[in-house]
Amino acid sequence: MGQVFANLPVTVFEAMSQAARDNDAINLGQGFPDDPGPEDIRRAAADALMYGNNQYPSMMGIPELRKAIATHYARWHGVEFDPMAEVLVVSGATEALASSIIGLIEPGDEVVLFQPMYDAYVPLIRQAGGIPRFVRLEPPHWRLSDEALARVFNKKTRFVVFNNPLNPAAVVYPREDLELLARYCQEFDAVAICDEVWEHVVFDGREHIPLIAIPGMRERTVKIGSAGKIFSLTGWKIGFVCAAPELLRVVAKTHQFLTFTTPPNLQVGVAYGLGKPDDYFFGMRKELARSRDRLTAGLRRIGFPVLDSQGTYFLNVDLAPLKLNESDEAFCKRIVAEHKVAAIPVSAFYEEDAVTSVVRFCFAKKDATLDAALERLAAVMAHA
Ligand code: PMP
Ligand code: GLN
Repeated sequence: MGQVFANLPVTVFEAMSQAARDNDAINLGQGFPDDPGPEDIRRAAADALMYGNNQYPSMMGIPELRKAIATHYARWHGVEFDPMAEVLVVSGATEALASSIIGLIEPGDEVVLFQPMYDAYVPLIRQAGGIPRFVRLEPPHWRLSDEALARVFNKKTRFVVFNNPLNPAAVVYPREDLELLARYCQEFDAVAICDEVWEHVVFDGREHIPLIAIPGMRERTVKIGSAGKIFSLTGWKIGFVCAAPELLRVVAKTHQFLTFTTPPNLQVGVAYGLGKPDDYFFGMRKELARSRDRLTAGLRRIGFPVLDSQGTYFLNVDLAPLKLNESDEAFCKRIVAEHKVAAIPVSAFYEEDAVTSVVRFCFAKKDATLDAALERLAAVMAHA
């Protein structure tokens, strides 16, 4: 029996959501908003469900959505994709990652990863026979450095999996870091699988720069997106893959035997959503930034050291200065049981050599939810 998946624990997101249910806790763990998502987009999908096609759509995604993805990225990032040869619709970024990793990586290929990292990457890479090589990013800035890249890239390096904006660190990487990574990818002839699901969830006027837009990366980057994050509809599981035709063809061949296709009505809803005016996207960012500020201010008032959040639904608290004498995992287990607030220990995002003092909170919640959580968290500090 294959050992890669057999020996894995249940994902930390599922485990903490279950702990939240078991303890009747406020769930600031797994990242999902507690509002129902844009009504017009849900309506477009509902109409398509009732009056549109409900049979297998095209394996590559409905043309309407592939065109909307290409138009959207041309408008927002100035990157031109051929919607018929360079855009693929899949069932969530998770499937995009699986199709890219299984399709492209061969046994023995070395793959550079940056810790903390999303939990799906390493098992998929190992199942493909790839050999993960880790760069450890350091709080509070989690930036890339020439020395760290020089240590890990070598002539066996074939791939890099890079997540920007970075979950859980909530960093939006500046051009300088992307150019550094691009230089290494080119020097070592590596392909970047770039997980950009948080591309629209960026704050304070920051701009998301896709790695594929950096000179020299257009032909060697697989760009992954997710409608779940763009439209606060995380259950929809509509993912996008954009890449040069030679790479995309391989990812599509893998997709055809993982899921083959993706529900057509949700694709119609997303195609409609991607065409919404800029106001929607800026409004979503502003609203989330307001929630971030509310939780940040509340936590700081109580006495938690909060790290800056530049994007994503998350902010992090570094427990180290509090000298609590417990790991992030023990802290999360304690607060969900005793104080009824669920959070995520950031050590779960490491394969080795974990930072064990950082805890992630999701702020994509109503004010009342955040305020109730803060009230409970105040008791944690009162007893510290
Ligand atoms: N990558 C990252 C970094 C994520 O945070 C998530 C989910 N939050 C995913 C991939 C998975 O996205 P999806 O739900 O579209 O599969
Ligand atoms: N990406 C979400 C998070 O970071 C969780 C996705 C999942 O539950 N697998 O919270």
